[in-house]
Amino acid sequence: METKRIIIKDKTDPKDNELMEAAEILKHGGLVAFPTETVYGLGANALNGEAARKIYEAKGRPSDNPLIAHIADEEGLFPLVKEIPEAARKLMKAFWPGPLTMIFPKSDAVPYGTTGGLETVAVRMPSDPVANRLIKLAGVPVAAPSANTSGRPSPTTADHVWEDMNGKIEMILDGGPVGIGVESTIVDVTGEVPMLLRPGAITMEMLTDLLGHVEIDPAITGPMKEGVHPKAPGMKYRHYAPKADMVLVEGELQAMAEEICRLASEAGQQGKRVGIICTEETESFYAGKNHENWILLCMGSREKEETIAHNLYGVLRKFDECQADCIYCEGFPRTELGQAIMNRLTKAAGHKIIRV
Ligand code: AMP
Ligand code: MG
Repeated sequence: METKRIIIKDKTDPKDNELMEAAEILKHGGLVAFPTETVYGLGANALNGEAARKIYEAKGRPSDNPLIAHIADEEGLFPLVKEIPEAARKLMKAFWPGPLTMIFPKSDAVPYGTTGGLETVAVRMPSDPVANRLIKLAGVPVAAPSANTSGRPSPTTADHVWEDMNGKIEMILDGGPVGIGVESTIVDVTGEVPMLLRPGAITMEMLTDLLGHVEIDPAITGPMKEGVHPKAPGMKYRHYAPKADMVLVEGELQAMAEEICRLASEAGQQGKRVGIICTEETESFYAGKNHENWILLCMGSREKEETIAHNLYGVLRKFDECQADCIYCEGFPRTELGQAIMNRLTKAAGHKIIRV
């Protein structure tokens, strides 16, 4: 299949004539990748089980990993769900449109092909103007997981999507780099107490400020014990992973950087190509060590954690390109946006963490 790439001239104000062909493809059961404020999504008509099946095929995604249905406005929610719990009403008012997904009891209109066989459905209303207008024009809810091959880091630019999806889908809408860079926060509102299933840019602190008590799925905070299943089925996979072996080092800044230098020197002596993921605050420290076989990539500034989230997946993909054998990565405080950053880094590292 030939994949068409359409460049959106002004992503803050996309024109309907730029989106019409993509909307038609979605309406008729095809696949279109498009930018959202979190990461690029791979869209298909969420009410069409056969279209949803094509998503799993293009991504190589396990079919028990359910999809998020994206809607353009509140009216789009009603046909998809059996009820709207009180907590959901508050969350919608506060954070929609935006990077928040909620789990609802599903209506009969939503096929099991979209929900991975579950009786619940995940729904999000994106704020990105391209995503929002595209969904509106398509006139159907759009199932859209991240537009990467399953297991690879999520795409934050149209080039990343092209690397993974060229030849497998009808169209890519190129709206430039996304804003946030990590996937949406997921909150399950079907139980008595809302539960955070995946951390994102709507932080735990923001959720508890609004709702009071919010539980956290234990799958977020640590490696899963045998027999324990995360409530978001997708969270059990080794996601977000670069090809190289990655180790995450956590601790006070100076101690962390020194430990990474020690580990990197050791690996370098074994002839390995060593990758180091650092921050603006530590970059000169590693650069000063002047090791020729170290590949040093900076994720952003600790003072502005949104820059870290924004660059995270791009940096992991760069290490695939330069064929690092091992990667050492600095850790971050697990609060606010740091919780989402550490959740993705921990998984990229397959839970290999050293605390200093
Ligand atoms: P992605 O589409 O790549 O952002 O991944 C979607 C995430 O949402 C996965 O971790 C899914 O397991 C999770 N998810 C989707 N639908 C549900 C649902 N009905 N219940 C719980 N988690 C869900
Ligand atoms: Mg994904």
